[in-house]
Formats: sequence, C-alpha cells, structure tokens
Amino acid sequence: MTAKQHVQHLLDFIDKSPSPWHAVASIETAIKAFQFVRLDETAKWPLQAGGRYYVMRDDSSIVLFALGHKTPAESGFKIVGAHTDSPGLRIRPNAATTSDGIARLGVEIYGGPILATLTDRDLSLAGRVSYVDERERLAHKLVHFDRPLLRLPNLAIHMNRGVNEDGLKLHKQNELPLLLAQLTNNQLPQPYFLTLLEQAAGIGASRALSWDLAVYDTQKGAFWGANQEFYANSQIDNLASCHAGLQALLDDAVLDHTDSTLVCAFFDHEEIGSESHIGAAGSFLTDVLQRISIATSSEREDTARALAQSFLISVDMAHAYHPNFPSAYDTGHKVFVNQGPVIKSNANRRYSSESLSTARFIHWCEEAGVPYQRYSHRSDLPCGSTIGPIVSAKLGIRSVDIGCPMWAMHSIRESAGVRDHEHMIKVLKRFFID
Ligand code: ZN
Repeated sequence: MTAKQHVQHLLDFIDKSPSPWHAVASIETAIKAFQFVRLDETAKWPLQAGGRYYVMRDDSSIVLFALGHKTPAESGFKIVGAHTDSPGLRIRPNAATTSDGIARLGVEIYGGPILATLTDRDLSLAGRVSYVDERERLAHKLVHFDRPLLRLPNLAIHMNRGVNEDGLKLHKQNELPLLLAQLTNNQLPQPYFLTLLEQAAGIGASRALSWDLAVYDTQKGAFWGANQEFYANSQIDNLASCHAGLQALLDDAVLDHTDSTLVCAFFDHEEIGSESHIGAAGSFLTDVLQRISIATSSEREDTARALAQSFLISVDMAHAYHPNFPSAYDTGHKVFVNQGPVIKSNANRRYSSESLSTARFIHWCEEAGVPYQRYSHRSDLPCGSTIGPIVSAKLGIRSVDIGCPMWAMHSIRESAGVRDHEHMIKVLKRFFID
C-alpha cells in the first residue's frame, strides 16, 4: 500500500466508526479476517499456542492479543495502547424539549471539544440502545442515524457583533442544545425523539429503555492540500492511532513470527480521565494479561516475570506546529506534519516516556527507516496527558508516549499529514517483530 492508500483505509475506518461503540465493531470486523477468536470474560479461556484472541468490555473497549512462540514469562507482552473515544457532545436521558415549535436535544459535554467547531455542521447521532423486544427480553444494539439530523446554527453576526474579536463563546447549558425538528402543537418532543430512535435502531414496536448517543459530524474524511499531502476528518484523535496499531498487527508476517505475545489495547473514556471499569485506569488490561499468564503457566510468579519484560507504546496524537500561531510552541520542539512520529516528553510524567524507553523507540525508528521528532510542551501552558502514564503505572511496565502530529486537536474536523500514518504503521510493526 502507498502512504495515501493507508490514509484512505484510515478515513474509511473513521467514517464507519462514528462512536466508540462503532469503532470497536469496526475493529472486530477487521480482525475476524485474521482468525481472531472472541473470548468471554465469564467463561474459561482455553488458549492455544499461537492463538489469536480478543476481549471486549462494554462494547467500547477492546484488547486483542496474539500468543507468541514463547510464553509471556519467557518473552513478555508487547503492547500498543490507544483510545477509542473522542471529545464531543452526548445526548441527555430526557433530552428532547420544545420551545416555540422547535424541538431540541439537550446535551452534555464529553471531554474537552472545541465547542465552536460544532456550529453549522451536518450533525447526527450514533451509539447504542437497550430495549425490550417483542418477547419482553432485554436486548442491545448499535444505532446510527447515518444522515444529517441535528444542527447548532450560529447566531448571525448582526446579533453577535464581537464574534471575530472576542471569539465564539457558547454558554454550556443554554446555547448548546441541538435543533432537531419543527413540531406541531400536539407533538410531544420526547416521544417524538424516542420514535425516531427506535426507527433508526430498527427495533420496530420494541421499547427503547436507555441509550448512549454521541453526536458526530456526517461529513466524510477528505484529502486536502495542493498535493493532497494532508487529510481531514473527525476523531483523528485517536482513531488514527487505533488504526495504525491495528494495521501494524494485522499482518501474518508479524503475527506468525513473534516470540512475545502481541497486544493491542484500545480503551474508551480516555477523554474523561480513564477512571471506569473499561477505561485505562480500570482493571481491564490487567485482568486480560493476568489471565493470559495464568493460562500459559501454572507458576504464580510468572505473571510478574512477564510484566517485568513487557513494553507499552502509548499512541496518541501530537500537536503539530501551526505557522499562524508560532508563540504556542516551545521553539526547540516544533514538530511538523509529514515529518514522522513524535516522541512526547514531560518532566512531570504527563507522558510516560523516559530516556530508556525513548532510546528504544528511536532505535526502532532507525531500524524501520522512519524519521522521528521530539515534543515538549510550553511551560506556561498546562500539558495534556494520555493513557501511557496510567497503564504504565498500573502494570509496572516501561512505556513511551508517541503519536502522529496533527492540527486542531479536539475540533470536530481535525487534520494531519498523509506520510505520518504510514511511518507510524512501519515503526509499530518493527516494535512487534523486534
Ligand atoms: Zn487523544
């Protein structure tokens, strides 16, 4: 595949994954072609040497692993970690209200989106719904409206004269409800919305009881730039990293020629701090790695031996240099799109990288023929974080934080460089087969 084909594959992946639940479903589809077998956390795990398996928790976090030629106690776990969620808006339970004939959906802010970017977009909803079916059984399914459904129109500049001087400020309670429909006097908004939801989910006469619904942008991904050297889509942070990890792993040459057990761990809830039973701060990955260890060795200390020789690459997007805002960057640490993966460092361990893990990553880049860049955040701006420090601390394993440079992180329309995605896949492959 060319660099552009890799990105086209990524854009298709994102377009099919409008919510974290859909992202995990897309991953599940991709890995089935590579004979990954699903494991149920409530059942016993009959793991076979050389086997490929995956575990899902609550439909939006997934851990996949391929057993190596050696046991984890002999050769450790090689883990690529990323997150499936992106910041945005989520629909409240009693969402629908009407005022002056216009039905709107009340929203909560999920994580830290750039709210102004949500205005004037062709928005829609995707997520999952729980319902009682015709035979009164509880069931769950994914739901995806797949058409422009909602909008947050801007106020005209004639009523907001300072918008270009002061920036677009939206009151988080009053000014974010999304416009849904024009209703007649006798139409009640919440039943109206529920009917729409039940139709979109295709659950017929069944009753929807509860749901998780993310607001997403229906605009598809695109290449841009005079030479099509950039690309844009929603959720590049962090579906691009999930996709890169997956593309590195899903190669028989990688899967069949490894001593170590290879792992991809993709978590929901990173954007809200990872503290949940499916998030990176929860027990999910620890539980899976422990069970692999126990299934492959009867010695209790072998889990500790396995972890002591494991390594995590935490992949999350990085802040590319924006030429219009030079003062936002430390001068020695401008990182540029299309110039390779970025190694992120932070003395206060907002990133997990330290000198030894950084050196190992640089070495993999050199072996893979991939350029790399170094990033350090300005001291007068608070630094973001990733799952890297959390997972590394929980498991007690060495880790490095890296990612492809991008513009407009947490905008509903983010951008990145075409060549970086291929670079990332290459170096992650090198890590897996090292
Ligand atoms: Zn991220």
